[in-house]
Amino acid sequence: MSATGPYPHLTAPLDLGHTTLRNRVVMGSMHTGLEDRASHFPQLAAYFAERAAGGIALAITGGFAPNREGWLSPFGSRLATDGAAKTHRQITDAVHAHDAKIALQILHAGRYGYQPLCVSSSAVKSPISPFRPRALSAAAVERTIDAYARTATLARSAGYDGVEIMGSEGYLINQFLSRHVNRRDDDWGGSAENRQRLAVEIAARVREAVGPDFIVIFRMSMLDLIPDGQSWDETVQLAQSLQAAGVSILNTGIGWHEARVPTIVTSVPRAAFSWVTGKLREAVSIPVIASNRINTPEVAESILAGGQADLISMARPLLADPEFVAKAAAGRAEEINTCIACNQACLDHTFANRRASCLVNPRAGRETELTYPPVASGEAKLIAVVGAGPAGMAAATVLAQRGHAVTVYEAEARIGGQFNLAARVPGKEEYAETVRYFETRLSRLGVRVHLGVTADVDELGGGYDVVILATGVTPRTPEIPGIDHPKVISYHALLDGSAEAGAKVAVIGAGGIGFDVSEFLTHTDSPTLDRERWMAEWGVADPVTHPGGLTERHGAPSPREVWLCQRSSGRLGSGLAKTTGWVHRASIAHKGVHLIPGATYEKIDDAGLHLQVAGEGPRLLEVDHVVICAGQEPRRELAEPLSTAGVSVHLIGGADVAAELDAKRAIEQASRLAATL
Ligand code: NAP
Ligand code: SF4
Repeated sequence: MSATGPYPHLTAPLDLGHTTLRNRVVMGSMHTGLEDRASHFPQLAAYFAERAAGGIALAITGGFAPNREGWLSPFGSRLATDGAAKTHRQITDAVHAHDAKIALQILHAGRYGYQPLCVSSSAVKSPISPFRPRALSAAAVERTIDAYARTATLARSAGYDGVEIMGSEGYLINQFLSRHVNRRDDDWGGSAENRQRLAVEIAARVREAVGPDFIVIFRMSMLDLIPDGQSWDETVQLAQSLQAAGVSILNTGIGWHEARVPTIVTSVPRAAFSWVTGKLREAVSIPVIASNRINTPEVAESILAGGQADLISMARPLLADPEFVAKAAAGRAEEINTCIACNQACLDHTFANRRASCLVNPRAGRETELTYPPVASGEAKLIAVVGAGPAGMAAATVLAQRGHAVTVYEAEARIGGQFNLAARVPGKEEYAETVRYFETRLSRLGVRVHLGVTADVDELGGGYDVVILATGVTPRTPEIPGIDHPKVISYHALLDGSAEAGAKVAVIGAGGIGFDVSEFLTHTDSPTLDRERWMAEWGVADPVTHPGGLTERHGAPSPREVWLCQRSSGRLGSGLAKTTGWVHRASIAHKGVHLIPGATYEKIDDAGLHLQVAGEGPRLLEVDHVVICAGQEPRRELAEPLSTAGVSVHLIGGADVAAELDAKRAIEQASRLAATL
């Protein structure tokens, strides 16, 4: 790696005095689900080793609690004994074998602990955990600080190059820093100095315990994004005290987990918060790390070149592509499999107690079990893949990578399938990156792609050893009288621009696509592409004028009046994903979308959409258009004739099962099949 090439700031080494980081990329902490049991450490080691081989400078592990009170969940990850430290050696050795460094994150969950032993500054329950914390006594605070120092010492003995003290995102240290939770009147509460005492003492005693030649990172909250958040003066004061206490690097966290402002989902603009990291950098002389929604080398480079940070933290982008750094450094950025910030296979898995992986890279977290071995010489097959949506693109690239001769048939004029539609939804622009990645990959791998070609049995039946049908889905047409009325539009036609909606619109079906369509209808353009506008929409302000960075929301009004309907009773959007559903619900509520559960669709005519609404009776929505988002049916008419003709056929993605189709399942299924053929 050198400080030349296309990203000279990103690839420049950073001298920390006692050691040097080989470039500016830090793999940010992320809980994978492999941390909780030492029996999973071989997989965790393989996961980190792949990212180390791909060129990162420094990895930070998922959080390890310093004691039981600090557990995220019962019997969750903890590092508190010599025996436990020994089991970490395989992880640190695996990273060092590729000349990268690794730090252990010490995370005390405080009142975010999903467990009955949880503690906090005061006995104030968090809105995101059912357990009321016990307030730590002054003696217990002292013991907690000792526990941090012990974990840091154990990390050093386990071969780690450093530790990161998690002091942001609303965890224990943050719960002392802010009056939002800290109601104490002893030495650990009240004045800013008292509230900061825990953070500073932990930093000082960790430094004292590990000695001078060990990296100590402190992750501090830049914007709490909750009421009674810290003022900017307090943030600067804390940063300077931490520097004086011996911290080597400051990482910057954004928002408590309970904040009602999205901070990492795909509709958050890229590098949305690097400006606040830049502000902090002016106040300290130690290196500062920028984080949150930095997913391309261009964005990372511009933050560094603009002087907003010394290092860039990326976690999800390295799940998506372990070779991110190597590809960027080699001038092959267009080959990077970009994280689209969907959260579907990473954070949504973590919150469901499942192992984290990645929608666009199903190997993430499964490096030892899902492998793509080259086919033995003489065993390459001629394979046709029909359909170039997410499933087809994934299958074709894995097959070609393994050495098979692959031909893709796509009926549309371009590859991408449903992702091309998703990319047209305001706030989902990132989905276009996946199409770009696959386009580049198919071309590099020499896959023959026939666009605008509807393959038939004759074409597919002759000559191919295997045919993979990734023909996707067709939108379901519900049986409603008047469904052929000119007012009716399919979501496909609306999103691809072939139909336009009037000023009043009813949406039938409130699944993921009904919500996406509601976002599309209530925006004239995408606030994701304009940081200032996005901040106004979500009420994010400069912490210098607004403590915690929180203010009133001021969004642009919706250009349309929209009614979103579903047949079932209950809350609309309750089936949306855990970490993103609330953002969609809040977004369309802010735009004034009318929600109608318990709808029975009677007919559509010149007057509009006639409904019966449970508990209310008949109702007429006098709308200009009705957009149908009623789910999908599989498209697989080629399967039977091909099988009858004796062709080896596999169905993947929506063509296999359309119900609850999602790209995560499609790409994983495609990749697993392609790994075995
Ligand atoms: P979906 O989630 O299955 O939702 C279909 C909706 O249509 C349901 O609300 C259903 O609710 C209604 N419906 C089903 N049959 C109907 C009928 N015969 N008549 C009237 N209404 C009917 O499907 P989707 O919205 O098309 O999304 C497909 C998949 O794409 C999702 O499962 C999701 O994984 C993925 N996706 C997710 C997101 C996201 O999370 N933001 C966005 C886009 C796509 P009722 O039966 O109650 O009426
Ligand atoms: Fe990024 Fe989505 Fe993969 Fe998570 S699942 S790493 S958000 S692309």
